[in-house]
Amino acid sequence: MRLRTALLGVAVSAALLVAPQTAVADPADPQPPAVREFGNGPERNEVAAGVPEQAGTLRAVPEAERRPEQPPHAGPSREQGYPRQTRLPEPAENPADASIKLGLMPYHGIAPKLNELQKRSDRVSVEIFGRTHQGRDMYLVTVTAPESPGQAREQARMRDRIEHDPAGAARDRNLAKRYKAPLYVNANIHGNEWEGTDAVLRTVEELSTSKDPAVTALLAKTRLYFNVTANPDGRVLGQRPNGAGFDLNRDFITASQPETQAMRQLMIDAQPVTMIDLHGYVNGTLIEPTTPPHGANYEYDLFIKNTYANGLGMEAAINGLGYTFDKDGVRPAQIPFRDDPEGWDDWPPIFTPQYAPFHGAVASHTVEIPLRVNNADYNSLPVEELRRRSAINTDVAAAAIRATYAFVQSRHDQLIADQIEVFRRGSKGEPAKEVPVGIVPGFGPEDVYTTTYPRAYVIPAGAGQRSATAAARLVDHLIANDVEVGRAEREFRVGRTTYPQGSYVVDMRQPKRGLANVMLEQGADISPRVDAMYDISGWSHALLWGATVQPVDSAPAHAKPVKAAAPTGSVPHGWSALALKVGDAKEVMALNDLLADGVAVKWGENGTAIVPASERDAARRVADRYGVAFTQAGKSGGTALTQVRIAAAASADELFTLREMGFSVTPVSTQVLNDGFDWDGTDVLYVSSGLSHAGLTPEARAALDAFLTTGGVVTRGSTGVTFNAAAGLLTVTGVAGRSDANGVVRTVSSDGPVGAGSPEHSFVYSPRWFTGLGPEVRVEQAYATDGPLVAGHWRADANGVGGPESARGQAAVVSGRDERGAAVVMFGTEPMFRNHPKGLFSQVARALYWTSSVTGAAVTTP
Ligand SMILES: [Zn+2]
Repeated sequence: MRLRTALLGVAVSAALLVAPQTAVADPADPQPPAVREFGNGPERNEVAAGVPEQAGTLRAVPEAERRPEQPPHAGPSREQGYPRQTRLPEPAENPADASIKLGLMPYHGIAPKLNELQKRSDRVSVEIFGRTHQGRDMYLVTVTAPESPGQAREQARMRDRIEHDPAGAARDRNLAKRYKAPLYVNANIHGNEWEGTDAVLRTVEELSTSKDPAVTALLAKTRLYFNVTANPDGRVLGQRPNGAGFDLNRDFITASQPETQAMRQLMIDAQPVTMIDLHGYVNGTLIEPTTPPHGANYEYDLFIKNTYANGLGMEAAINGLGYTFDKDGVRPAQIPFRDDPEGWDDWPPIFTPQYAPFHGAVASHTVEIPLRVNNADYNSLPVEELRRRSAINTDVAAAAIRATYAFVQSRHDQLIADQIEVFRRGSKGEPAKEVPVGIVPGFGPEDVYTTTYPRAYVIPAGAGQRSATAAARLVDHLIANDVEVGRAEREFRVGRTTYPQGSYVVDMRQPKRGLANVMLEQGADISPRVDAMYDISGWSHALLWGATVQPVDSAPAHAKPVKAAAPTGSVPHGWSALALKVGDAKEVMALNDLLADGVAVKWGENGTAIVPASERDAARRVADRYGVAFTQAGKSGGTALTQVRIAAAASADELFTLREMGFSVTPVSTQVLNDGFDWDGTDVLYVSSGLSHAGLTPEARAALDAFLTTGGVVTRGSTGVTFNAAAGLLTVTGVAGRSDANGVVRTVSSDGPVGAGSPEHSFVYSPRWFTGLGPEVRVEQAYATDGPLVAGHWRADANGVGGPESARGQAAVVSGRDERGAAVVMFGTEPMFRNHPKGLFSQVARALYWTSSVTGAAVTTP
């Protein structure tokens, strides 16, 4: 389920627990406490090791291509007909697969079952369309009437026309007659919400063998795409996240994980008119549409009309199964949009059903099947009770799938027409349509959210660009999301600004302008409109990914479409030492690569690394690999830098991000330290989660104290604040903002070792700030006095404190040297949250370089 969790090592406060959660409130079936689901200790986080290098190569390649570990023919091919049957490799039997206890299909049983179904029926096609973090195959099953290669090509042409010539497609009366409506069923994205997979297998078997003429008619007019399990790692392990510890159903506009990247490509290629995402467990079954606030970048009039209709259809089908509370413990289904005032929103596009509409889905749902079998219940309930529940859950999920394909069958032409209309409005750049109140019963003024699209966004080249490297990353990310990006072939003017040749232009007259805008707009402060949000409320790629992005009111005609960002790496000619300003994660990766190769790098002033002139070849190699630009070094002073070895008590996304940047990371926890940790190989201790100073044994505490005379410390969040005080590091008082507050904030940075070069915005989740600063403490970054919230949800608590007003001008990131000489940096922000705010990662890197390089050296004024 979309469990409301405090993700990153922050204590779940009373404010969060008492926040309205009406969509899931059920006194007879209490929800488990909102617990952290990530980073539950080193044993889970270990698997985040060995993250594949996401480096660029000599030529810039779009992010979508940087997946060497992925199978070669990911996604539906345009050239082959159907069936396209793949003899799947069958994994070794794994008796430890968590599905087995529930009487469900273990992962290793899926391939044999699909191989058998392909043999039995020419309606079934199976392709491997992705590979998980731990290397398991992801299976795409397509069920449809056979097609010749020519017929498949015709389908592809119509699909292209719907997206790229929607006005023409709308006029073509033959199109809907010939086009097979695509439907997408996503199962098991949370690994311990299993039964969607079993319902998919049952449905595929029924459809492939049925002699019912209605099924024959369905398959002649539809393609049903099934992602059998979106999270094979989690299914096997019986855990919510994937093998890297990421919640895949929060990752869609970040796409940090291979599973999410594969699903993204599938949605782009298949262009479904309708999708459902099968989760558990909410009793009675929860069926979207959602409560407000509603995402403002959807064509919501088309979306709500269809999504509510299919929601009602699924409800009828599920209630029609005849399960009752008295007999079976199953409550009637619920629809948050209809039944609840707020608490289950579709504001952030991080969930599968909130991402799919940007690729043309006009009905899109999370479905939460009813009976809990995971977490504590998995461990405590008798096996027969678990299996009884799982059997019912499978029936419910199958009923949701059945109702949805019946819906697509009955509204075939209209759904296609509505998808065409989504792309037509985008291509034409029509103003956002304000959805009329009453468009469906219950749609009131509280449901109306709208936006104003700029004419275009410019990602400038030249001096107006904060970071060419970050700009290239953003451009590649947009392209990987099927957003059209152009590059200006000559300079152009908008108002008083002249943009150089080579600037990127995202024209908002394009079929997927909703997706472009949801990533590039600032977002909105929605605190006044709703009491509480389900998950994050701000995410702007324009403000958090490190590149300068500007909305403009005219678009140049001469921007040429590009398939990848232009290369950005360079090394100047000459014989002097080289400087690399570490202002972006790509520069961190380049620097760590050099350090790993034993290059004698010095850490200069203001976050700049100095590479000796003799290492020019090494500099060229990393410039090409990561797209970073070296300059001539003015002076070659500074502290000698070596590879930073980190012991990290951190959450899974932080471990992933630190490793992605090329740091050497050893996960630690209270337990690990108490078991006798050898500090010899550690330069910096990172503390944000799972380490309690008070919980250390005297021996572990003594070892830690000894480390603190030679090593640095970087902390984040409440765990970090507590640790700082208990270990007697910096003189600060940590102040907590409201714990469910989150979003993009405006900041002001100093020229300190961490603040220098920081973007003007940061990201917070459970924001913190620091007061009572001792003389040894320097403010690296402060919350701006205007705002500081730019986009997101952040209110004061019931006593009127903890809101953005209280944070104004307060220190958000501080640094200093404690009495022992240890260098310490404390973050009250969330610079590595879910691997998303890429423009902030380098702040953490600078904190690590600085703390490791100055600790032990003579204390000077910070
Ligand atoms: Zn779920």
